[in-house]
Amino acid sequence: MKIYVCVDMEGIAGIVMPSQLRQGEYHYQEGRRLLTEEVNTVVEGLLEAGATEIIVRDIHATGFNFLIDQLHPEATYFVGATKADQRFPGIDSSFDGALLIGYHAMAGTLRAVRDHTYSSRSYTAMELNGTPIGEIGIDGLLLGEYGVPVLLVTGDDKTCMEAEQELGNVATYCTKTAWGRHSALIKPPRKVKAEIKDAIRMALQNRTGCTPYTKQGSYELTVRYLSTDLADSRYCDGTESVRVDGLTIRHKGTDFTRMMARVL
Ligand SMILES: [Zn+2]
Repeated sequence: MKIYVCVDMEGIAGIVMPSQLRQGEYHYQEGRRLLTEEVNTVVEGLLEAGATEIIVRDIHATGFNFLIDQLHPEATYFVGATKADQRFPGIDSSFDGALLIGYHAMAGTLRAVRDHTYSSRSYTAMELNGTPIGEIGIDGLLLGEYGVPVLLVTGDDKTCMEAEQELGNVATYCTKTAWGRHSALIKPPRKVKAEIKDAIRMALQNRTGCTPYTKQGSYELTVRYLSTDLADSRYCDGTESVRVDGLTIRHKGTDFTRMMARVL
């Protein structure tokens, strides 16, 4: 059984502060340790649940956050930056499922730890075919293009709600209850370590009920920028990418991966 694991950082157990998330900041090394230990637990849980091949992708910021020498030896890890159309290097249709670990709610979500969509410094909102969408939905669709279903999403309570609303039949595991953007009732990481393996085992057992996430027809993605100069810096051809107003660009396409490459 082949499993692809996409790992963000905001939804990892014990993480609530920006200083835990950014290179060079005071709590960043602690954030990396919490992240790496949770990743190792996820790999252990997957192996115990029958996974035979695991790729783990670090998708937070630079893509270089794991403590490399402490990673579990029985998985392959992708670290570092990629081109915009290669969010999940190494993925193909032979994978049985994907896990979204340490994710967060979309930009603008009430009482959600580090709510954002790709970058708080660039985007304030995205809508797909008229409905608000965040990274859970977008990554679900990108994985769906390879025929790979999302089996489990972990993060704060708003992350879990968004995943269930967006993806439908998906398992979720809550690492903390968000109180605000930088506060939460947290589960101690040691408790999460004990519980997350059960969540993985159940998600893999029930995987036959999960189908790849897709949407019918063509796509129209409306992107709202934080400032006009950010929108100015994007190329708009007037047909596939249209400048709607000072802060908004609307992208159209039938190939979701290619369309997202124009956005990110
Ligand atoms: Zn992140």
